[in-house]
Amino acid sequence: MRRTDLYRALLGAHGRIGRGLFRDGRALPPVQLFFEATARCDQACRFCFYRGELQGPEETAAAELPAEAILGIVSALPSARLVSFSGGEPLLRRDMLELLGRVGADRGVSLETNGGRIDADTARGLASLAARALVGPGLLGVDISLHGRPQTHDWLVRGRAGAFTRAAAGLEALLEARRAAGQRFPLVTVKIVLTATNLEDLPWLLAWARQRGVDHLAIKLLDPGRTALSLQGGQSPLRGTGRRLDPGMDGARLRELLAEALEPRRTGPEVFMIPLGASIDDAVAHYQGRLDPRSRDCLNPWSRLSVLPSGEYYLCKIFGAGRAAEMSPLQAWNSEPFRAFRRGLLERGLPADCVGCCYLE
Ligand code: SF4
Ligand code: SF4
Repeated sequence: MRRTDLYRALLGAHGRIGRGLFRDGRALPPVQLFFEATARCDQACRFCFYRGELQGPEETAAAELPAEAILGIVSALPSARLVSFSGGEPLLRRDMLELLGRVGADRGVSLETNGGRIDADTARGLASLAARALVGPGLLGVDISLHGRPQTHDWLVRGRAGAFTRAAAGLEALLEARRAAGQRFPLVTVKIVLTATNLEDLPWLLAWARQRGVDHLAIKLLDPGRTALSLQGGQSPLRGTGRRLDPGMDGARLRELLAEALEPRRTGPEVFMIPLGASIDDAVAHYQGRLDPRSRDCLNPWSRLSVLPSGEYYLCKIFGAGRAAEMSPLQAWNSEPFRAFRRGLLERGLPADCVGCCYLE
């Protein structure tokens, strides 16, 4: 079984059991925690659904949850066997390696980064935190975003000349540090957000990743926008699925290149799409604005809890409620707003606002 299929099966089983047990919107304690560790970023990607909240790299870190608060949230949830850190750019936090080490002492951790800040020291630091087994404690994986050939990548991350070179150097430094330590972990994933601009670069990126011994290539379908997390499950600025997400995308070519990339191979990176359950037909329908989330399923609100840099809890891109300063993660998880949101999903199914979400099944 592929690692990504195993991950999906385990998360899915946990969510399905919780959803089946309670009809009042409660859920079993979450098995995964996501921290958007900072809103600061040194890129301004054209497709970033986080752009409304992004801050420059030089902004103050005062508004971010301090390490001790993050550790407090994690220790209040012994059920969370996997803790993931993203941003913004999480390596802009000076305490990121320390956080990965402390959280990873007794559970799995992972990191999503744009890769530009992984120098040789950081790479060695990350390798030193490596897990020893897929289900053990320690650093299981590092996802690095590379969105195509150098010139395509640099244009997509918005005029940062040399961004590809820096991210690629970071990835290579990490692979080298892992090799030098004789380790299998952290698993390294190259992540591409697929747009009309970089579609033709997909075969090139796959070959590039294979040559370097990358473990996974994740093809992330474009998310048309972030909805207002702080609206307590209320209105969303997204308006249904009746529009094309990327008007330049050629459906036939998309189908062809995805089929080629996803073809099973004995060697080279494991290739998958995000959402994990998406088929090639789904991907084509998604870019043509024909994939209606209302006909799909999602178990995420029964399995994962996320925390914004400000300490606000949220279930997913369309619903958040409660703050870490006011309640524990378990209180938030089964609080009335969270239960009401889950009840709404049970009674009415997914809303159209879910379009583009990573967790659509
Ligand atoms: S690196 Fe990530 S957080 Fe930063 S702009 Fe790009 S997509 Fe957004
Ligand atoms: S599919 Fe919808 S309900 Fe599920 S996590 Fe995504 S936005 Fe939330």
